[in-house]
Amino acid sequence: MTEPRKSTNFVRQIIDEDLAAGKNGGRVVTRFPPEPNGYLHIGHAKSICLNFGIARDYGGRCHLRFDDTNPSKESPEYVRSIQEDVRWLGFDWGEHLYHAADYFDRLYEWAEKLIRDGKAYVDEQSADDIRETRGTLTAGGSESPHRNRPPAENLDLFRRMRAGEFPDGSRVLRAKIDMASPNINLRDPVMYRIRRESHHRTSDRWCLYPMYDWAHGQSDALEGITHSICTLEFEVHRPLYDWFLDQLGFAPDARPRQIEFARLNLTYTVMSKRLLNALVQEQRVEGWDDPRMPTLAGLRRRGYTPESIREFADRIGVAKADSTVDVALLEDCLRDDLNPKCRRMTCVHRPLRVVIENYAEGKVEEIETPFFPDDPGREGMGFRKVPFSRELFIERDDFVEVPPKKFTRLSPGKEVRLRKAYVLKCIGVVKDEKTGEPTELRCTVDLDAGFDSPKDGRKIGNAIHWVSAAESVPVTLRLYDRLFTVPHPGAGGQDFRTVLNPASLEVVEGARAEPAVGELRPGERCQFERRGFYYVDPKDSAPGKLVLHRIVPLRDSWAKIAKGQ
Ligand code: ATP
Ligand code: MG
Repeated sequence: MTEPRKSTNFVRQIIDEDLAAGKNGGRVVTRFPPEPNGYLHIGHAKSICLNFGIARDYGGRCHLRFDDTNPSKESPEYVRSIQEDVRWLGFDWGEHLYHAADYFDRLYEWAEKLIRDGKAYVDEQSADDIRETRGTLTAGGSESPHRNRPPAENLDLFRRMRAGEFPDGSRVLRAKIDMASPNINLRDPVMYRIRRESHHRTSDRWCLYPMYDWAHGQSDALEGITHSICTLEFEVHRPLYDWFLDQLGFAPDARPRQIEFARLNLTYTVMSKRLLNALVQEQRVEGWDDPRMPTLAGLRRRGYTPESIREFADRIGVAKADSTVDVALLEDCLRDDLNPKCRRMTCVHRPLRVVIENYAEGKVEEIETPFFPDDPGREGMGFRKVPFSRELFIERDDFVEVPPKKFTRLSPGKEVRLRKAYVLKCIGVVKDEKTGEPTELRCTVDLDAGFDSPKDGRKIGNAIHWVSAAESVPVTLRLYDRLFTVPHPGAGGQDFRTVLNPASLEVVEGARAEPAVGELRPGERCQFERRGFYYVDPKDSAPGKLVLHRIVPLRDSWAKIAKGQ
């Protein structure tokens, strides 16, 4: 079970008040009600942490209910992925797995009751006509010519709709409420439409499917949900849910209390399943679990931990007003979680060969190096032996032939510290004849000083990382950046496709890592010094072939990337 939440919020305060007032016999029952029409994203994680977290902390329970009223967009793949993602986040619905489809019979009977009571009617207008006669935000709608059909006729038509006598889209059932209502949701909303679609639960049993608004409130009520927590856009639907429950005879104190909160928006991210689905269908990413996607499957594949996402949900809190959270906060939660967990290792991303002329051929020194240099005694984490030899790889970027002022790394005639090892001096550069690019550096090390500071106190450049050429293991790196180039993709009617970041994935083949990296198993994480946190991709790695995702750069390297340094 996940750790209890540290902070409170207005939803919890409402629940505290309800408990203090003795409501619901002291029970707290929440639910997370996804529509299985896509994979869950980080916005859903906010709702999951809120609903399951409340159930956990109040000794209640949280149902997982699929609001599966629209078979044309839903699929068993989505149902499976949603369950996997909720579990991965660390939550458990126990035996309380439900589907709106479980209530199709019940909802149908209730619809007949509304018809008999003169509260619902079959409309034969086209979908366009219904939309056009619904009115606007400022003007009321106009009544359908079929609105005042007698109940017996409506009942007969509704039963024939169910029996499959009418083509798709030819008739709907509408609630008979008030076409002049200032709330557009109360202007005779559609309750049922005809759709010959196979459903993942009920197969071909129905050709008539309930609308979400007709199914949702009753599903909550049937399950005995005490607090129905949803996002702000449902506030204007609440009067409709109440109207339905009133007609069906649910007493005001025997129905869920709906509480609305602001949905999560993140900078540099699109969140709606519709847009994420477009990214997948148009193959702008490699699938729902592409590590650049804000889906839970994508974040997991990238290497995010569930702990970091729960911490993020806790830090952003729950409020009543819409806002956009800086994605940097999510990245900070991730670093804070990974920092104490991930062993430090070395990986040279773009190798440049270094030959140390004054170091004996065939000689190898094994340098004992702690996995946590700041905390070397850390239990169970220990040391590894890092080989040092005559031929090394360093980062191509750590060498500059004609260095700018204040450059503190390697250049001809200059010295740098090799991390945990010798002082290295560059005495020659071998270049590619055609391109002029350096292909190898000829160097010496200060054997007298050894791993200590030179006795004469001369100035040495910064410490750079390195690996021994012969013992290093080749790895493939996937360096991810934000999927969009602007903080608010799609804002102001802009097409989010036009602001996709063309550099959101850089694949680096032929990186060289120290031998300990070769021991990492799929799904393990580490920190590469001076670079960031990395994750061994379980999908594409194989024995002898490691593919690592950069989960997130180190905090200061990110700042450097942002400044273009
Ligand atoms: P989307 O627009 O991404 O499809 P949705 O609201 O249609 O989102 P559902 O599957 O219906 O997705 O959502 C299940 C639950 O998750 C709902 O209670 C919804 O309010 C909540 N939810 C969805 N998106 C967010 C978000 N960005 N922040 C917080 N909660 C969210
Ligand atoms: Mg939806």
